[in-house]
Amino acid sequence: MSGLAKTVLGFLLGRPLVAIVLAAVVVGILLLHSHRQKTPVTHRVEHVTLTDAQQMQLGAQEYAKTLREDRARIVATGPQYAEVQRVARRIESVARRDKPSFVWRVSLIRKNEANAYCLPGGKIVVFTGILPLTENDAGLATVLGHEVAHATAEHVAERIERNHLTEVAATIIAGGVAFTPAQFLRIEALLGVGSALPFSRSQESEADQIGLIYMARAGYDPRQALAFWKRMERASRGHEPPEFLSDHPSDAHRVERIRGWLPEAEQAYSSRS
Ligand SMILES: [Zn+2]
Repeated sequence: MSGLAKTVLGFLLGRPLVAIVLAAVVVGILLLHSHRQKTPVTHRVEHVTLTDAQQMQLGAQEYAKTLREDRARIVATGPQYAEVQRVARRIESVARRDKPSFVWRVSLIRKNEANAYCLPGGKIVVFTGILPLTENDAGLATVLGHEVAHATAEHVAERIERNHLTEVAATIIAGGVAFTPAQFLRIEALLGVGSALPFSRSQESEADQIGLIYMARAGYDPRQALAFWKRMERASRGHEPPEFLSDHPSDAHRVERIRGWLPEAEQAYSSRS
């Protein structure tokens, strides 16, 4: 083989790598500009880089993966399915006013784990194991209001930003691979998948506040949120506290704070259109 042919061959073989590097650079230059964003209800100014569209794509990729892996356990009929769809629809219709571009979907998965989460962009996953704790529609609305609030307040994008993982996330969204497997796992942990703590304490508190207003706007009595969190507190004293609490650390002041937001929530509940 001539020297020229070798050079050409080397160039061709090298191209996929060039393409990946170029994609990363383009993503880095064109898309990674932090913008100011105001959270709903609490009106806190936050700085995030991932756009709504990018957050939706990141969430949709993870959602598709979850549904693929848990395909055999998806519940698609019956009273529990109907309840989850019914409550999610009402919470979604409220959240849509804050995030009109998000595409909301909810899946119920048969898993003996008291947990639920909402991925960036509006994809919700509920495990059947949380339903005995939510007890009724208002209890489930408390959980879904809280989870959906994490999405509309863009808490994952904010955490990705603070952990300096925005470029990694943007590369995954652009169809590339994470720079290292460890970085990919860190993004997954921040998405709330697995047992890691995806959110900070202040984000948890903010999700409580926004979620309370969401459930009230959706037509659920916000006082039922107090009843739910008290049930969770009681359950946490048992031998095996619900998984939902390990992701959503409770403290003695949570019920107090919720009590403080109740007047505004009750106002929203009684004056809803
Ligand atoms: Zn939370």
